[in-house]
Amino acid sequence: MRVLLVEDDVQIAQGLAALLRTEGQVVELAATGAQAWAAWSTDRFDLTVLDLGLPDTDGMALLRRLRQRPPGAAGSPPDMPVLILSARDALQDRVSGLDQGADDYLVKPVEPEELLARMRVALRRGAGRVQPLLKHADLVLEPATRKLTQAGQSLILRGKEYALLHALMSARGKVLDRAQLEQALYGVDDSLESNALDVHLHHLRKKIGESLIKTVRGVGYFMPVTDAASESSA
Ligand code: CA
Repeated sequence: MRVLLVEDDVQIAQGLAALLRTEGQVVELAATGAQAWAAWSTDRFDLTVLDLGLPDTDGMALLRRLRQRPPGAAGSPPDMPVLILSARDALQDRVSGLDQGADDYLVKPVEPEELLARMRVALRRGAGRVQPLLKHADLVLEPATRKLTQAGQSLILRGKEYALLHALMSARGKVLDRAQLEQALYGVDDSLESNALDVHLHHLRKKIGESLIKTVRGVGYFMPVTDAASESSA
């Protein structure tokens, strides 16, 4: 799950980003409206958490602009779920936020559990719009709820394993190099230990079966396209 966090307060931004990352989300940060717009224009996010009081623009204007984007444009879709997280608690602000197209409106300070729960709801709602089920061999992944089954049996993945599998399944047979997978794991602005990817891959392969993820030596990793109907377990 890729989340854009639009927030100019560094402390709040870093606290929320850390929280979301422990949940296995890939988080990018934008501190201004311009940065948020640039991120939306180039990158496909599953959800945005949007502050209203930004240094260069009002979050509400940004949201209106997003909703007016043409559906086929590159980057994030105009109907991407957006959750407003603002210090403005007046009824009028909340009503107007929802009227302008926010999926939810939360007032700061927010309890982490509540934010996560509201995000899940917004993602479920968004799932019908933008996120199809991902299928590969006998694996079925539901991005909105992060539920994974193999041959009908539910499988539990840890956050990073999930992020890795989601990236590989989304690539539909394409080889992803280490940098791409590391970005899926951590976002671009996170540092990581050099062997972390190998460790998570190892655990993931143990859970879903060694043969489903192929290694292209010196290049990267991929999940070969298969006929899901005729493929039995790995
Ligand atoms: Ca602010």
